[in-house]
Amino acid sequence: MTEAPAITVRGLTKRFGARTVVDDVSLEVARGEIAGFLGPNGSGKTTTIRLMCGLLTPDAGEGRVLGYDILRESIAIKREIGYMTQRFSFYEDLTIEENLRFVAGLYSLKDARTAVRETLEDLGLASRRHQLAGALSGGWKQRLALAACIMHRPRLLMLDEPTAGVDPKARRDFWDEIHQLAADGLTVLVSTHYMDEAERCHRINYISYGKLVARGTVDEVVKGAGLVTYVLEGPRLAQAARALRGQAGVDQVAPFGNSLHVVGSDAAALQATVARIAQETGNRFDPTPTSLEDVFIQFMGASTDNMS
Ligand code: ADP
Repeated sequence: MTEAPAITVRGLTKRFGARTVVDDVSLEVARGEIAGFLGPNGSGKTTTIRLMCGLLTPDAGEGRVLGYDILRESIAIKREIGYMTQRFSFYEDLTIEENLRFVAGLYSLKDARTAVRETLEDLGLASRRHQLAGALSGGWKQRLALAACIMHRPRLLMLDEPTAGVDPKARRDFWDEIHQLAADGLTVLVSTHYMDEAERCHRINYISYGKLVARGTVDEVVKGAGLVTYVLEGPRLAQAARALRGQAGVDQVAPFGNSLHVVGSDAAALQATVARIAQETGNRFDPTPTSLEDVFIQFMGASTDNMS
């Protein structure tokens, strides 16, 4: 028998006043999976996460998190998940170790001393345990936040934009840590804007204006978008970019270093336009694989159009 998913929700809907900010969202996250939750600002990621943690009550929909009913068993859910919000906070005038001891107290952990010691070691914080939280860099603060939300040994981590404002090296270390935790059996749902982070998830879910518009592995999402991309190279790229915009088949034109990426969903029209303008402007063109970023920009464009 296969294990029940860590998260399975159907038709989640949340309205604030007249606005529907989460609109009929259904998703599933398998145990041990790192699931990415992607989408532009204000698309409803935080609200969906709060609905799944049992911190908000949906206007419609149902689901189970770690086998518990999100409507009736939110206390059990809160006990068994770790939730790291965008704006985590600590006592800045307490040390790393004192902050963790405080958190251990909040969870009424039986052997708090051991839990704090093991968590410090697991996250490479032991040698810094006497440093004041307020004096830490962004990357170390974030590591302390992660320590605080895994100390009670949750089975599921919900991370809401955990790496906002953290430098690339610290982000990479953080993701190595997340993969280690997942390899040890933890399920992780993580929201992010960063493309490279989306690519480090086992599966991604893309939400736009409250609606889930794509889900699957990165490859599945890219294939499912049905886009075609050409790369133009040559001496007159700026001229080509101007000429391409608004032409038949062209949905996106974006410079990448010394080349131009041209993306569209109508393969035949795009190819005809690119061939014509490449010839007129004296540039070369070749097909190239569509990137996840191209796909996300296409989703954002489509959703904005739907708003008007
Ligand atoms: P994201 O996490 O994707 O940035 P959010 O879930 O935070 O999106 O927000 C979705 C939308 O819901 C935003 O437009 C936000 O302003 C609105 N919103 C969030 N929380 C509340 C609230 N408590 N009351 C009213 N509007 C809210």
